[in-house]
Amino acid sequence: MPPTASRVTTAVTTIRPAVVGKLNERQVLRLLQTRGPMSRAEVARESGLSAPTVSKAVASLLKAGLLEEADAPELARGRPAPRLRLATSSTQVFGIAIDVGHCEVVSAGLDGVLHGDTLKVPTPGTYPELIDVLEDSLRELMAKPGMTTLGCGVSLPGLVDFRKASGVLSPNIPMTNGHSPAADLARRLGIECTLLQESHALCLAERHYGLARGLDDFAVLDVGAGVGLGVMLGGRLLKGNSGLAGEIGHVTVVASGGRKCGCGNFGCLETVASDSALAYHASRKLNRAVNADEVIELAKSDAVDLTAELEEIAGYLAIGAAAVVNLFNPQVVFIHSPLLDIDPGLLVRVVERVGQRALPPTFADCRLLRAEGSKCQGAVAGIIQHLTDAVAPDVV
Ligand SMILES: [Zn+2]
Repeated sequence: MPPTASRVTTAVTTIRPAVVGKLNERQVLRLLQTRGPMSRAEVARESGLSAPTVSKAVASLLKAGLLEEADAPELARGRPAPRLRLATSSTQVFGIAIDVGHCEVVSAGLDGVLHGDTLKVPTPGTYPELIDVLEDSLRELMAKPGMTTLGCGVSLPGLVDFRKASGVLSPNIPMTNGHSPAADLARRLGIECTLLQESHALCLAERHYGLARGLDDFAVLDVGAGVGLGVMLGGRLLKGNSGLAGEIGHVTVVASGGRKCGCGNFGCLETVASDSALAYHASRKLNRAVNADEVIELAKSDAVDLTAELEEIAGYLAIGAAAVVNLFNPQVVFIHSPLLDIDPGLLVRVVERVGQRALPPTFADCRLLRAEGSKCQGAVAGIIQHLTDAVAPDVV
């Protein structure tokens, strides 16, 4: 027997049954995640696994709390087979989006569907107060009778070191620097928590629940108080050496005379293409401090004419988006921004300008769309992925 064939035989015979079991569980989970509720027999038919193998995998997933049995539709004759679905009626996960002006908290089932309304709390001034406020909000949701809580995803702005699972440098919320809100909440509440950089959260939200379903190569340009970028290449999030990739907001676009940025530099993209940039212009016009949340409402209500300033911001936004098109050759660049609420025609004008700046063959292959997903949904997708990986890892 040639040496290569011998090695292959050895590798196959040494795969542990436990590993195969986990791979089967992963396959069953993925099927239910992509296709929705189905019976054990349907799972066996669709997956190609044997009925006993499916029963064993399902029993393990039910025990872990990731699946539940739902009522089956009535059959004409005989007892209906129970349908399996991702746990949602008595199981919840949380998604938290920490932001400059306020934090949002949601509860969802393992299918990612939100259970109720979004809780909004003002972002406090210090890190201990922030954790207190988030803990109180989560405890309120955990107190719901008959509900088991499996975990919480936390979306955080700024640089997030994924190896240390902590904030590193947040120009807009510096109180989180050096802290891990996910680890602190996990310690206080005794549940699994995972930390996500907010642009990565938006990528997950768009891929699982938005317009990027089925797309492997896309980017989300997040234009809020700052400007962030999440990039999905070949179905994987671009993270960089320590998770700090994608900080397009701190690329210099005003070479001289630019305003000071929260990062300490001057003329960064987010000083001229963000809600904060518009708030800066509004503050000068009104001769009072206007924050990023307030300026969107002001501009929508025509209380102050910011037409020229919005056009300038659109121009810089197009520079950022064209750079993303040229650098990553995505199928779609999604723009997540409340600025698009001010003027329905703004996105069209940004797209025109991107077309003038991006390389024609790359631009011809790419669409620019408004993002549908939210950071809270991304945080939910992140904790569901974390829990799924813990029970049935993708690569064993
Ligand atoms: Zn900067």
